[in-house]
Amino acid sequence: MARENLSAFEAVNRYFGEAAEILDLDDDMRAILTTTYREISVQVPVRLDDGGLVVAQGYRVQHNGARGPYKGGIRYHPSANLDEVRGLASLMTWKTALVDIPFGGAKGGIAIDPSTLSQHELERMTRRFMNGIAHVVGIYRDIPAPDMNTNAQTMAWMMDAFSAREGYSPAIVTGKPLAVGGAPGRESATGRGVIDVLEAHAARSGFSLDGLRVAIQGFGNVGSWAAVEAARRGCHVVAVSDQWGGVRRESGLDVQRVVDAVRGGGKVSEVEGAHDDITNEELLAGECDVLIPAALDEQLHSENADAVQARVVVEAANYPTTPGGDKVLGDNGIVVVPDVLANAGGVIGSYFEWAQNIQQFQWKEARFNEELADKLHVAYAATASYAEAHGCTLRQAAFAIGIDRVATASRLRGYV
Ligand code: NAD
Repeated sequence: MARENLSAFEAVNRYFGEAAEILDLDDDMRAILTTTYREISVQVPVRLDDGGLVVAQGYRVQHNGARGPYKGGIRYHPSANLDEVRGLASLMTWKTALVDIPFGGAKGGIAIDPSTLSQHELERMTRRFMNGIAHVVGIYRDIPAPDMNTNAQTMAWMMDAFSAREGYSPAIVTGKPLAVGGAPGRESATGRGVIDVLEAHAARSGFSLDGLRVAIQGFGNVGSWAAVEAARRGCHVVAVSDQWGGVRRESGLDVQRVVDAVRGGGKVSEVEGAHDDITNEELLAGECDVLIPAALDEQLHSENADAVQARVVVEAANYPTTPGGDKVLGDNGIVVVPDVLANAGGVIGSYFEWAQNIQQFQWKEARFNEELADKLHVAYAATASYAEAHGCTLRQAAFAIGIDRVATASRLRGYV
């Protein structure tokens, strides 16, 4: 994927450039912050159950670690590539700084379609990948987490592979199952956080969540929890989708029914009950108040953004809007709550899990959720105030706050 002749890294650096202008950042610092610190591209051979062999390519990119250990998810997707991972790693740097947690930014991935692999094959691939990157990760060096097509089980295998080399190390990855050091609240944290941020935006903008019509693209970890949380707080979730298509109901879908269908291994479109079947393009262009892309990169772009009818787009996915799409949305008066703010609940939750692992202490879920909302509300308020003060977009404000903090730490540590 590379729309508008921009790779993901070039696109994120374009957003970086807009904020760097506001900050009047010097050229040396721009050069440091628009390149990555370390990139690993590693061969991942996978022995198949039938005796065959697939050789996949795996990546880990560490973008900037001035504020703490590198942090970011691992995705398994056929389109994963080094440049996309670079772009997503740099987004993590701005995100961790914006929400003020002591991490830098990283990302990883394996270019493979995991739906073609059995559980045993997935396990072998995950362990092999961890062994390939083990020399550059560590509990105070780089801490992976789940992302697209990876989950708590994937993290348990990664933790075990690393612990076999270094001794018991639950803090090496976050998003683990509860039984091996996971934190109550982490699984739902990204989706719940998306709605925490929406709630903060609604309160500041003078509207209520009650009866708000929400459409969500993607019904995996992030999309499904966002749907559950939105419905719980009074929104009408009018449309949801996954990679096979979606469903729509004007009076609001029965979200729990969709969750049950999908978590049982089904597709969104297989849910029972009254609804219309829709395509993903129809979901993005459908009537609603709030559109939440929670699937892939580059879903809103210069060719389809004009069709968006929502008043607000809340970016639950990473890099769901290209610079061209962002401009169209802005010109049409649609507010975009950017990914680095909207989905930061995931990495904040990971920070809580990591801190609990280091301390060998477990919080109650209520404390986890309360501290999560608190951090997101503070970050939203700072971003909205910055945008008002500088007459800029929420994305430009969020990047500017994050970049300023990372530049300060990079300068103090002598990176430039
Ligand atoms: P996931 O693998 O659990 O779910 C992905 C969902 O997107 C699935 O429902 C899938 O069917 C759907 N999808 C895939 N291709 C699609 C297409 N072409 N059209 C429509 N839907 C499609 O992944 P996830 O962890 O929920 O991640 C989703 C997004 O959120 C990614 O951009 C990821 O980087 C971001 N994110 C995830 C986390 C996290 O904690 N998991 C944290 C922050 C951001």
